[in-house]
Amino acid sequence: MSHSETSRRQFFRGAGLAAGTLAGLGIESRTASAAVPKLKIEGAREVPSVCPYCAVGCGQIVSVKDGLIVNIEGNPDSPISRGTLCPKGSATFQLAVNPNRLTTAKYRKPFGKEWEDVPLDWAMDRIAERLKATRDATFVETAEVPGPGGEAVTKKVSHSPAVASLGGATMDNEWNYAHLKMWRSLGLIWLENQARI
Ligand code: SF4
Repeated sequence: MSHSETSRRQFFRGAGLAAGTLAGLGIESRTASAAVPKLKIEGAREVPSVCPYCAVGCGQIVSVKDGLIVNIEGNPDSPISRGTLCPKGSATFQLAVNPNRLTTAKYRKPFGKEWEDVPLDWAMDRIAERLKATRDATFVETAEVPGPGGEAVTKKVSHSPAVASLGGATMDNEWNYAHLKMWRSLGLIWLENQARI
């Protein structure tokens, strides 16, 4: 007997016991089923995705209703994880939907002693300005590297070694992919993120 058959049988046996217990308490099954709350994923669109937290890459199903994420759980079709998620991956919903998410950036002025809250748009503009200025000021077209016989060879490198990006575990795989493409197109070479893509 396979494990799945056993589980199914155990499930039905449990359901029979539950029905018997309800009848013993004088609760009609129709009344009991009417009291069952609607599933939050009822009518939701299921979008397969990948857990963003680490390089294992467990499969997830993101349930979306009216443009909002209502649930994230393990994807049984994933050959990596077969529907399972570790405690961190199981809490991914709280990453996407959380009233405690920060909606401003923390900024400390040069020589300033205090952090202040600034709008995200302002922070993004500031980062873009500084990124462009630093990249342009440090861009290297060619570099001399050792050739096969030890002689100096000039190679086209088209990069800037002056800017780096360090991604955290909460950046999702789609963002990391787009970020990598943008970084490489600017000629920036120091790029790391936890998704390992
Ligand atoms: S954090 Fe957990 S659930 Fe997410 S990919 Fe890694 S092992 Fe899988």
